[in-house]
Amino acid sequence: MTTTALRTAPAQTPEEIGTGEIQDAGHVDVLIVGAGVSGIGAAHHLRDQFPDRTFVILDAQDNRGGTWWTHRYPGVRSDSDLFTYGYRFKPWRGPSIAAGGEILAYLDEVIKEDGLDEYIRYRHRVTAASWSTEDRRWTVEVARDDTGEQLRFTTGFLWMCQGYYNHAKPYRPEWEGFDRFQGVVVHPQRWPEDLDLAGKRVVVIGSGATAATLIPAIAGEAEHVTMLQRSPTYFFAPPTTHELAVMLGPLDLPDEWMHEIMRRQYMTQYHWLARTSFEAPDELHTFLIESIRPLLPEGFDIDKHFTPRYRPWQQRIAMVPDGDLFAALREGKASIVTDTIETFTEHGMKVGSGEEIPADIIVTATGFNMSVLGDVAFTVDGEQVDFTERVTWRGIMINGLPNMAYVFGYFRHSWTLRVDLVSDLVARLLANMQDNGATMVVPTLRPQDKDMQLRPFSDPENFNAGYVTRSQHILFKQGDREPWTHMLEHEQEREILPEADLDDGTLVYRR
Ligand SMILES: Cc1cc2nc3c(=O)[nH]c(=O)nc-3n(C[C@H](O)[C@H](O)[C@H](O)COP(=O)(O)OP(=O)(O)OC[C@H]3O[C@@H](n4cnc5c(N)ncnc54)[C@H](O)[C@@H]3O)c2cc1C
Repeated sequence: MTTTALRTAPAQTPEEIGTGEIQDAGHVDVLIVGAGVSGIGAAHHLRDQFPDRTFVILDAQDNRGGTWWTHRYPGVRSDSDLFTYGYRFKPWRGPSIAAGGEILAYLDEVIKEDGLDEYIRYRHRVTAASWSTEDRRWTVEVARDDTGEQLRFTTGFLWMCQGYYNHAKPYRPEWEGFDRFQGVVVHPQRWPEDLDLAGKRVVVIGSGATAATLIPAIAGEAEHVTMLQRSPTYFFAPPTTHELAVMLGPLDLPDEWMHEIMRRQYMTQYHWLARTSFEAPDELHTFLIESIRPLLPEGFDIDKHFTPRYRPWQQRIAMVPDGDLFAALREGKASIVTDTIETFTEHGMKVGSGEEIPADIIVTATGFNMSVLGDVAFTVDGEQVDFTERVTWRGIMINGLPNMAYVFGYFRHSWTLRVDLVSDLVARLLANMQDNGATMVVPTLRPQDKDMQLRPFSDPENFNAGYVTRSQHILFKQGDREPWTHMLEHEQEREILPEADLDDGTLVYRR
């Protein structure tokens, strides 16, 4: 692998910084945006399949890991098992559920084994990407928020691995009287390392996975933690280590075998769960509710606090490994209020029932602001791209955007399962271009696709988590037929994507 094509801009003098001059940072064959699980996975597959291609990974943050670097609040952990959340190519060796730090350590091993470190540029925020058909390349503009420098890379293929939300601006609803609150307000995306919880009354606003993992982690230290939710979420309390892994433990299997066996076990389980959510939602609803009943204190109002009004998996099911959230409730260290916030006061908040909840610290676990492809301003041959008028090609490319792929993982399965599948398809696409001498590939609506019915990015009947619903109006669309759809089920896609025809007329190649 050679990096000669890639030049890092020379250091600027303080006088030069901020002069607005854009520096040329060189050309690469493939430019990856994002050094989270998607970008690192994409880079692994690229190196593996095309060892001679030059590439670079740009990330706006100052370290790797994306989500796992941004979220470092107490107790942060996966709610997927790491056998499927880990990559296909890199065995996971720990318990099924992992802490955020353990996931970062796993990613560090991948970075080291693949020698990716020298290709990652941190604090490089991509602001704009312009495609020129004449030059057959993207020009990518980058802002360095730390130095004020502006850089310009060029690339033949842009691989967007930017995740789905804005890491710098978490979502916080508008609340009446919020400014009156005199205590400390914290968002899990920006957890202060020195936050002192001892003897404090903490209110965590939110009902999802973040609230569920944070609460048991701080319940021992704070005086009391209240989970304040507007409406309930589905929870499931699997063991941290799967019983199959416990059984296989004494056999001392090679890591690769263990990884593959446990992956298949979890895939089967998750496929069943997803299928049942469509075929027998009422039974699944009852199963989920009844599975947590024994973990809650006698007489607990499950209907009010733990019975969602939507179908299971229409939003993510939050995993509570070993039921630690419920233990905190049983022990009286934490409690739940299900109500709407009327107003904040100097010392807490008042909810719809009239109850006042005192708080020294408020944690706003209220979710994300989605961003469309990293909030990068795209142009194609001088025309600004309005994503709301665009359609996805298999949840991997976008019509009218040449030489660009993006990674968007699963909602109902481990995100990373899709990173491997998408990377395989991108590798096939690059090989197809090479074999045919093509320098450009652009997803294009065929005459028979032109009048197809457009559907939202995510069908609300299928999946309607708050962050998706809030952002549908800025997102690109799906069509009513393949390949203009974004499938959400790994069980189907693992068959379809490897077989997907790259010469079906929806991808137009040019030499
Ligand atoms: C607390 C938490 C727990 C989760 N647990 C699970 C789980 O157990 N299982 C699961 O499947 N999913 C889980 N998710 C979803 C999770 O986000 C994905 O699993 C996965 O981490 C996404 O990886 P990514 O690399 O695609 O994106 P991200 O992790 O979001 O990383 C994207 C990176 O791209 C960078 N970037 C974005 N835009 C730009 C730009 N314009 N210029 C430069 N850099 C840019 C960002 O700085 C970031 O570092 C969880 C999410 C959260 C918040």
